[in-house]
Amino acid sequence: SAAVAKAHAFFPKWRDEDPRTRAAVLTRAANIMRSRRDELSGIIIRENGKTWKEADADVCEAIDFCEYYARLAVPLFERKRLGRFIGELDELWYQPRGVAAIISPWNFPLAICTGMAVAALVCGNTVVVKPAEQTPAIAKIMVEILHEAGAPRDALHFLPAPGETTGAALVRDPRVALIAFTGSKAVGLDIIKAAGVTPEEQPFVKRVVCEMGGKNALIIDASADLDEAVVGVRQSAFGFNGQKCSACSRAIVLDAHYDTFVERIVEATKALRIGDPLDPATDIGPVIDEESARKIRSYIERGKKDLRCVLEMKAPEGLEAKVGKPYVGPTIFADVPPDHALAREEIFGPVLAIIRAKHYDEALRIANDSQYKLTGGVYSRKPTNLERARKEFRVGNLYLNRGITGALVGRQPFGGFGMSGVGSKAGGPEYLYQFVEPRSCTENTMRRGFAPEL
Ligand code: NAD
Repeated sequence: SAAVAKAHAFFPKWRDEDPRTRAAVLTRAANIMRSRRDELSGIIIRENGKTWKEADADVCEAIDFCEYYARLAVPLFERKRLGRFIGELDELWYQPRGVAAIISPWNFPLAICTGMAVAALVCGNTVVVKPAEQTPAIAKIMVEILHEAGAPRDALHFLPAPGETTGAALVRDPRVALIAFTGSKAVGLDIIKAAGVTPEEQPFVKRVVCEMGGKNALIIDASADLDEAVVGVRQSAFGFNGQKCSACSRAIVLDAHYDTFVERIVEATKALRIGDPLDPATDIGPVIDEESARKIRSYIERGKKDLRCVLEMKAPEGLEAKVGKPYVGPTIFADVPPDHALAREEIFGPVLAIIRAKHYDEALRIANDSQYKLTGGVYSRKPTNLERARKEFRVGNLYLNRGITGALVGRQPFGGFGMSGVGSKAGGPEYLYQFVEPRSCTENTMRRGFAPEL
């Protein structure tokens, strides 16, 4: 495509730009976003149905990514001396990789798109942004803001297009050196496979940074403070309708609290207000689109056949028509066997499976028994159980005695392993290393006389 050609041609120029100049673009972009914070939230609400609180968090995270990566990038590009050997100067430094394709999801349409794009850009790669089909408007504004902040037009390109065709072609383009993807497992695995194919004319192996899905669990231990656990599970499961990769879709509850927990989470969830996301009092807005609504409803139907449905909330009459997007209300199933599809597959909607565990060992076993390794959490007042979770509950982001969503840049570097992704954590100190290549140089500094005639 023309965007890749331009990005490819401009790469040497952007690669050799002063790293401080590139970092300053991000800092200015953060300032612009900060000054347009509510407007950007409004666009996100319109485009993907987030509530005000969730949309604002999306904008704030985008600002944090800009500030954080700007600060990391400057020292990253300073040459580092290794050792202090006499007669030898050993140095290590980094260089950008080339053209980066950014392929982002709709669920954090500003934060994730910004995070991946500015990380690539600040490291001196030229960037082609291919946003999710559902949320091109906010991505376009992000690109405009970065241009306004000083990113050269040839260094940053906007390519709104369908994933299956243009996205697929973009990742296969032999001029693309790096792909940063966040989205579903199926697409992520396809991209990793495609990136492994290296045609004759391609002079490098592609690097893929790939963040995929989750099937995250919260364990409610026998010693848990239920007042806290109930609101933590409710927020983690139903915030933005469970459409977060970090969302809690499994609550694993120990026998001691089981019946009380089920009763209380149902009552607490009933208190959530389903409404128009533009209304600040709304807790639960619509889901992203019809295709997603159909998928979520089919899981609910399946659950109603096989399982005990303890709550199925519906949107008020007329709301769908008014908002123009489909609604699926919070739905809870109890006594879900750990091997049931509702306890294993990512639904990406407001569906919570409650699973009973006899003891803490069993709870940990069930929690770990998923190919996804993204977030997880434990509510417990027993220090030894919290310590055991640190050792044995193997997820990328573990949260103790709090909800499992809402990771903050720099404080909760975010990302999983297993089928949840490859790469080091977004918003963490190692993230930028994925966007560069290391080089080292050794000079023999022992002088053997002058060569003044030269
Ligand atoms: P998706 O995989 O359907 O789409 C993501 C992006 O990939 C979109 O831009 C899409 O156009 C593009 N795409 C689709 N097919 C493609 C192809 N064949 N080749 C190249 N690109 C293609 O995901 P989604 O529905 O937008 O987002 C939801 C998913 O994202 C969930 O699985 C969720 O768990 C995951 N997610 C993960 C994280 C994380 O940090 N781990 C964060 C947010 C979302």
